[in-house]
Amino acid sequence: MIKGAFFTITGMVLSIGLCIAPSKPTQKQDTSNTATQVENNPEVKLKPSVVLSGQANLTPAEQARFLLRKIYLTGKVGSELPTLDPELEKRVGQKCLISRDQLRAYLDRNHITEWEVGGNIDLPVSALTDANGNQTFAKYMVIHDTSFPRYEKSFPSNINDDSWEWNRLNRWVANVTHLFINRVGDSKTMTPFQESVTATKLERFILGEGATKGLYLHIEMIQPRKYMKGYGRGNDVDSPTPGFTLPQYKRLAELYTVASVRKGEYLIPAFHACVDSGIKYAHDDPQNFELPKFFAALNEVWADMEKPAGGGKKIGSE
Ligand SMILES: [Zn+2]
Repeated sequence: MIKGAFFTITGMVLSIGLCIAPSKPTQKQDTSNTATQVENNPEVKLKPSVVLSGQANLTPAEQARFLLRKIYLTGKVGSELPTLDPELEKRVGQKCLISRDQLRAYLDRNHITEWEVGGNIDLPVSALTDANGNQTFAKYMVIHDTSFPRYEKSFPSNINDDSWEWNRLNRWVANVTHLFINRVGDSKTMTPFQESVTATKLERFILGEGATKGLYLHIEMIQPRKYMKGYGRGNDVDSPTPGFTLPQYKRLAELYTVASVRKGEYLIPAFHACVDSGIKYAHDDPQNFELPKFFAALNEVWADMEKPAGGGKKIGSE
């Protein structure tokens, strides 16, 4: 590609596609299929700013449920709180007992370099430092979809293959996230986990960057979008089904675990749209995210990382 075209695409990513770019207002809000269980779940009445600033005094598992509610078309957040996987429910917000040696051995076994998973695993994650110099390490891992590239009529048939040009990670150059994960399960660090990135409207405009900088890790999962009739010209409302591939969930689970090992505590996973819910022009990502696939990937990764050294056989077993 010629240099000019390269920068044109970079500019498009920054101005149109990425989920952190300003959203265009759409003509109608999708409220179909939204469970109406607000009365039974008082947490869902809370504002994200109240939850994420700690004022709501929710447990980490309660926060995870609040922040992983289903995202409907145009970013409408469902009112039904999801059920967490029992293992995640047990671990979220608690001390992470996976050692750096176990993590390092896992990465070696799977031929994954540190630079593919957020940088030097000996370092901690980013932190917010207050006026007295006290540090609070990152609490939330925010899951995004790139909402880019955008197609007008249909998705190419090869979006989940190596051959799709946007699965080439060198095409992604906007430093607006910690990592990108492509649809074949490879990832690229844009900002190492020990450094801070701001990528939500809540951080920027509601809580204020100074109050939250460093508390969020951001992961962009590559997902193209396309036009959907009835939502205005140039919209990018439609997304592929399924929204993400199994290798993408696996890498997301690995990144979540790497960050949790580096913090020494399991972070709280969150969807971008849940974090920014209620803010004008809030984004609609991630679309078509399937929690059961993410939970299965977490359990697979944890079982592999935590298996005893020496091929997984326990002492005394055959
Ligand atoms: Zn986003």
